[in-house]
Amino acid sequence: MLFALSMNYSHLVSRIIELPVDPLAMNCSTSPSRARVFQCPTCPKRFSAKSSVIQHIKYDCNRLPRFVCPYCDKRSKYPFSLYKHIRDVHPDCKVYCKDLSGEKEDTR
Ligand SMILES: [Zn+2]
Ligand SMILES: [Zn+2]
Repeated sequence: MLFALSMNYSHLVSRIIELPVDPLAMNCSTSPSRARVFQCPTCPKRFSAKSSVIQHIKYDCNRLPRFVCPYCDKRSKYPFSLYKHIRDVHPDCKVYCKDLSGEKEDTR
């Protein structure tokens, strides 16, 4: 089950599109090696790093907020923003989140 879910986005990851960067559109202060554009295979969003696209596919793209604060009703697409919320709003509580999707999530 977990394997199937991870396969679900790994095939999307292989379809991430690296767009050619127009040299004229590049800012002189940006080094050419860093000026790369990656587009999500399933929506028009673009990112400057492939890891950002992977994170977008994994948590954000066509997904509902799946992480829920265990202490209130706040929801987030990203566990780290929920961890920040818990530290800010529930400073005395253990920092963890509920994952509605049932997918395994790395915790710290
Ligand atoms: Zn997308
Ligand atoms: Zn909360």
